[in-house]
Amino acid sequence: MSGLSIKDRIKIPRHKAPEQPPEVRSRNFEEVCLGFGLEEAKEEALRCIECPKPSCVAGCPVGIDIPRFVKLVGEGAILEAAHVLKEKNILPAICGRVCPQEKQCEQSCVIGKRGEPVSIGKIERFVADFERLSGRVELPKPGASTGCSVAIVGSGPAGITGAFELARLGHRVTLFEAMHKPGGVLYYGIPRFRLPSDVIESELKALEYLGVEIFKDAVIGKALSIEDIFKMGYDSILLGTGAGLPKMLGIPGENLVGVYSANEWLTRLNLMRADLFPDYATPIEYGKNIVVIGAGDAAMDGARTSIRLQPEAVTLVYRRSRAEAPCRVEELHHAEEEGVKTRFLTNPVRFIGDSHYKLKAIEVMEMALGEPDSSGRRRPIPIEGSNWTIECDTAIIALGCDINPLVTRSTPGLELTKSGIVVVNTETGMSSIPGLFAAGDVITGGSTVISAMGQAKVAAKGIHDYLVAKKGLRLQYAAV
Ligand SMILES: Cc1cc2nc3c(=O)[nH]c(=O)nc-3n(C[C@H](O)[C@H](O)[C@H](O)COP(=O)(O)OP(=O)(O)OC[C@H]3O[C@@H](n4cnc5c(N)ncnc54)[C@H](O)[C@@H]3O)c2cc1C
Ligand code: SF4
Repeated sequence: MSGLSIKDRIKIPRHKAPEQPPEVRSRNFEEVCLGFGLEEAKEEALRCIECPKPSCVAGCPVGIDIPRFVKLVGEGAILEAAHVLKEKNILPAICGRVCPQEKQCEQSCVIGKRGEPVSIGKIERFVADFERLSGRVELPKPGASTGCSVAIVGSGPAGITGAFELARLGHRVTLFEAMHKPGGVLYYGIPRFRLPSDVIESELKALEYLGVEIFKDAVIGKALSIEDIFKMGYDSILLGTGAGLPKMLGIPGENLVGVYSANEWLTRLNLMRADLFPDYATPIEYGKNIVVIGAGDAAMDGARTSIRLQPEAVTLVYRRSRAEAPCRVEELHHAEEEGVKTRFLTNPVRFIGDSHYKLKAIEVMEMALGEPDSSGRRRPIPIEGSNWTIECDTAIIALGCDINPLVTRSTPGLELTKSGIVVVNTETGMSSIPGLFAAGDVITGGSTVISAMGQAKVAAKGIHDYLVAKKGLRLQYAAV
């Protein structure tokens, strides 16, 4: 124990993790944030006043015992802290990097009411990295076999968490993944300078130790349907197929050469390493002026990957103002530091091509802000006669995603909302089809990594209870 009083702890200023300088990082794909060292992590941990009723825990979708792991860090017991983290979160190095803590645990931290909250996310990342690099990672073991088998469709955060929990309970788990690598958006959406491959690969290794079988390049809903999987003898199925169908603008010229969806752009660069073409097989064609449309997480990632390809200019175009941008404040700040220009209150009306159907400009309109709409944000209103053109040869549309209908349309009897989202019982995760459960973006239409993980835990418990009832198993659910 440090012997510091609460007064002393409150006086310690929040530590900022070092980062690559903008002018250096904008020319490489290496990780931007360099993370805390041991002393910084320990000092930052001492800022926690160990609240008897910790509001930060309520702000965490998987309920990590934050004061307990932070206290252990303050005492220098880092491996013990890692064990506490992993009681609730199997992907701490990933979550420590990508969770929007400022809207979750850190937003609820009492220290933040008067000053800056404890840097919970950066401490989590430090602990997870320390454990990984120590070579003393505690390996998970599968539970004693229950004789039941569960198929999981999709290997994003929801599918991975479901697989982990169910294998720990002794069920045989098989993952079906459409892509050639598991990880979902962690791999093909979030760029390597925010989440390096070795971090993902190391945390996914747990699945191997648990004996989870993974079928890659397996697109369910095409060759194999949900009904076929049940016929193969699986006792239950967890659907974790995410929300991967890009929303488009529906304006003239969207099919011109040089117009990408953020999904395609990011998948080529992140998963298929198009930035290393011809060393990697996937090419990516881009020009001197890249325009990114939107202001969410995917738009920031699109803009920040673009700037690293070193074109002449990258411009972000968004129809509302900076205040309404749905991305993390930190991401917009990073993008601007790296040289991305912004054009708020600007909306594309058509893409203009040359005689070879290649994009050469975008016609846009200026917007004003009206009353708040159903999203609570002020509605953008076009200003008549304000049209002008932005010269550009590459455009990336990043307006969010819908649910890919491949599985949902090929599964008769599956109840969906009007927008195609799978309806589940929120207490069990079960869909309208007995034995078919769902979690993650496929039940929300798009959220966060940790929310998808939290929903997968609910569904894993729902599946376990369903199997216990169906097979008459004498087992208790013990959350991991
Ligand atoms: C560019 C981008 C950046 C983001 N940044 C952040 C961030 O910084 N922090 C954060 O918390 N959240 C972020 N998010 C959101 C977050 O990544 C998602 O909420 C989360 O990944 C959802 O997890 P999931 O498992 O439900 O789906 P996904 O991660 O989408 O995984 C679904 C998996 O299912 C597979 N699949 C789909 N259809 C089939 C099929 N028919 N057959 C077999 N497999 C199939 C897909 O290939 C994929 O691997 C970001 C999202 C995007 C797009
Ligand atoms: S709310 Fe903040 S100060 Fe209180 S226990 Fe959580 S991290 Fe520590």
